[in-house]
Amino acid sequence: MECINGKNVKTTGVTAQLTQTLIQDLITAAITARNKSYSPYSHYQVGAALLAGDGQIITGCNIENAAYGPTNCAERTAFFKAVSEGVREFRAIAIVGSPDGDELAQYAYPCGVCRQVMMEFCNPADFQIIVAKSKEDYRIMTLQELLPEGFGPENLK
Ligand SMILES: [Zn+2]
Repeated sequence: MECINGKNVKTTGVTAQLTQTLIQDLITAAITARNKSYSPYSHYQVGAALLAGDGQIITGCNIENAAYGPTNCAERTAFFKAVSEGVREFRAIAIVGSPDGDELAQYAYPCGVCRQVMMEFCNPADFQIIVAKSKEDYRIMTLQELLPEGFGPENLK
């Protein structure tokens, strides 16, 4: 058992408490990824930085489409990039999102579809979701907190 956000949770060997430095590195990577956002329709730019179990950081941005439906979120871009390269263990993701411009005026929580994709590859009790307005101003939650009683691979065993 490990104490995360004041709660005792069951952790796997892969997941240990994130250090302040690592959290800030992830937020910085997410901010850089946000600069690549392709969002000509919503003008809502999002960047994500996914921390793999082996320590590598995979980034993603939101990618919109004129037909709207094919649009992909920054979080899923990062997950799909990672999985397509053979990476399937993850510890955390940092997400930054706000309307066009450099100011991060709000915490950008992942949408329901992205939470479900996280559920596919992450232990909900361990996986840490960091939403940030800056390197100093952020919140951390587990996937379980954002997707309680989620349906996942465990249900099909
Ligand atoms: Zn999403």
